[in-house]
Amino acid sequence: MLVNITPAVRKSEAPPGFHLLSKPTGAACNLDCKYCFFLSKDVLYPNERLRMSDEVLEGYIKQLLESHRTPIVTVAWQGGEPTLMGLDFYKRSIEYVAKYRRPDQKVEYTFQTNGVLIDDEWAAFFKEHKFLIGLSVDGPKEIHDQFRVTKAGNGTFDQVMRGFQYLGKHGVDYNILCTVNAANEDHGREVYRFLRDELQAEWIQFIPIIERATQETLPLANLGWSERPGGQRILYTQAGNLVTERSVKPDGYGRFLIDVFEEWVRKDVGRVYVQLFDVTLEAYFGSYKLCIHAPTCGYGPAIEHNGDVYSCDHYVEPDYKLGNIAETHLLDMVASPQQRKFGTDKATTLTKQCLNCDVRFLCNGGCPKDRFVNSLDGEPGHNYLCAGLKAFFDHVNPTMKTMVQLIRGNRFPAEIMEMYAAKDFKGGRNDPCYCGSGNKFKRCHGRAG
Ligand code: SF4
Ligand code: SF4
Repeated sequence: MLVNITPAVRKSEAPPGFHLLSKPTGAACNLDCKYCFFLSKDVLYPNERLRMSDEVLEGYIKQLLESHRTPIVTVAWQGGEPTLMGLDFYKRSIEYVAKYRRPDQKVEYTFQTNGVLIDDEWAAFFKEHKFLIGLSVDGPKEIHDQFRVTKAGNGTFDQVMRGFQYLGKHGVDYNILCTVNAANEDHGREVYRFLRDELQAEWIQFIPIIERATQETLPLANLGWSERPGGQRILYTQAGNLVTERSVKPDGYGRFLIDVFEEWVRKDVGRVYVQLFDVTLEAYFGSYKLCIHAPTCGYGPAIEHNGDVYSCDHYVEPDYKLGNIAETHLLDMVASPQQRKFGTDKATTLTKQCLNCDVRFLCNGGCPKDRFVNSLDGEPGHNYLCAGLKAFFDHVNPTMKTMVQLIRGNRFPAEIMEMYAAKDFKGGRNDPCYCGSGNKFKRCHGRAG
């Protein structure tokens, strides 16, 4: 019985907490987003019904709660598309949490979805159990529909917006997850304004699309990753130093982020949380909440529909399988030498260029999955996105330093917006002041002394 497994490792020797991403439908999804290489992962489980059984669900919840010594535990659902499990599955998950939760444990739920199946019933459930929904939207319709399509190849924007309306109707908390890809990399500001103004997003995460391929796999990879009748399937692995035509370009990624930053820093500091901006500011205080730009990683494993556990959501592939919860307790897998090495390799495999980089404390070489090009001095294993990351971190560095000074002086980082407004002011002394007071500039912030 899967629920009877006990950890072998002493809890004091294991990480106190971690963030396990659960994929109850494996790679199964109701959409066919062209850049989604996860669609290919069904190759790992041929002839299997990609649905988490009740036994795996119970074992997963029990082991997750047993593993944590932190007061808050996150149950994180992801896909594939997790709504395909049906609502009853998640109702049972809540019952298992109630059964196994220690009195001192608070459980939070997150749920990453394409939004297409969300209706009144789903939204009411999310609200009742305080789920935080991550909704995938790539920008306004004409941008979103480029890659986020149905199995028939049609754009999904209208369906996503219908689901979004239900979230709004029930007052469900949501974040927006927006990929940065070849179709939107030149439209940073437009995408950001859409998410902020039309979707009223207050928390946004940008995710660069990088689909790796080799000379041999590139033609197939460019076609997409889903099943095609009679078509040849390939399993996506983190291999190859080429990328698909949908992938963001390094300088495009940098441009996109800078474009968004220039808008955000003028209008939205303290009001809209853009994940990368937030974690960049925190890095100046030595705190790293996002694995990608932390010195080490390895605390974000993924669990498949059948209980298989992998080192990371991006490494669901045979070489990175840690075991199955039916045979090994989750905590033993997270604490295993294999997984600890996976995490520390992030720091020990940096190229010389990274080691000597003046923004390394912000970047830390990025995610290992993206380290597949040569550095400027020809060393392999350098981050594909480096040019964009460097441009972004260099660009924001002076502003971030000012925000750090504001925080250290017990002031609000949002004061940076007024500094920008002053810097941007092009009016004359008799024009209305940039601060919006309605007074003439000369009688307001333009007053001498
Ligand atoms: S491999 Fe990348 S995404 Fe995975 S845990 Fe490490 S930094 Fe995070
Ligand atoms: S900006 Fe480039 S060189 Fe600097 S740490 Fe990041 S990946 Fe390495």
